[in-house]
Amino acid sequence: MSTAAGYTGRFAPSPTGPLHFGSLLAALASYLDARALKGRWLIRIEDLDPPREQPGASDLILRTLDHFGLHWDGEVVYQSQRLELYAELLQRLIDQGLAYRCRCSRSDLKLRDALYSYDGHCRIHPPDAEAQCAIRALCSEQTVTFEDLIQDRQIWQHEDGRDDFIIFRRDGLFAYQLAVVADDHAQGVTRVIRGSDLLDETFRQLQLQQHLAYPTPEYGHIPILLNKLGQKLSKQNLAPALNTDKAVKQLWEALHLLGQNPTPSLQRASNRELLDWAVTHWQRDHIPRTLAIRSSGS
Ligand code: GLU
Ligand code: ZN
Repeated sequence: MSTAAGYTGRFAPSPTGPLHFGSLLAALASYLDARALKGRWLIRIEDLDPPREQPGASDLILRTLDHFGLHWDGEVVYQSQRLELYAELLQRLIDQGLAYRCRCSRSDLKLRDALYSYDGHCRIHPPDAEAQCAIRALCSEQTVTFEDLIQDRQIWQHEDGRDDFIIFRRDGLFAYQLAVVADDHAQGVTRVIRGSDLLDETFRQLQLQQHLAYPTPEYGHIPILLNKLGQKLSKQNLAPALNTDKAVKQLWEALHLLGQNPTPSLQRASNRELLDWAVTHWQRDHIPRTLAIRSSGS
């Protein structure tokens, strides 16, 4: 368990576009949990996938967080500046036999599995030395479990080989899994509060932490937010950018969805007053486990 004094939390957006209401929910929950326990709260920009990034998005995200009053501690960390660390860890995993080369393309996977899912092929059939390859981490544990702070006990069973996951892409980019584990460790993160769309990734991250002999942070996954059409609010389905002119309204609504019961009069408070109230009154166990549905538009 993290003690109040040793708590470090973080928000780790990918700069693929402006923050939307779903990202506000994740940022706010991790901010409040950290601040309520007198912890540090860090920002890490996960800019490892240039083709998916939008020019200017990192700065816009930081300005938006600032505008909403979600002030962070220390310098912002950019993953694009940390490739040496990832390369070192990748090599370490390969040297220890905990990661291996995989040359399966999407069409190879499709030939062997109608659902395109990986079947453990390159674990058994190592590719030629010259082949351009991805690197997969071994999933060696049969069962991975953890106690989620919001969703309770999570259990993942997997089959040999099929769940070995990519930590370095065939196109030469480091994958999210490796970078997130490397940085959560390097930044001393003790508790991760984020959206439950990342719940499955957590099992892979636990596996990598074990391979690297890193301690595992605590995890809490807040519910996924759906729009009026029942779709997950995401950049992919064009969730609107946060409206900085209505910061208090959106913060109030986010608090309400997180089960924090802000009083109606707080809608007339300033950002700072509202956030201070929320830190003082933070009740993590009031966060609903299941889906939150957002009915208003802005
Ligand atoms: N960068 C990831 C995203 O924006 C989040 C990573 C994380 O919180 O672990 O979806
Ligand atoms: Zn393969």
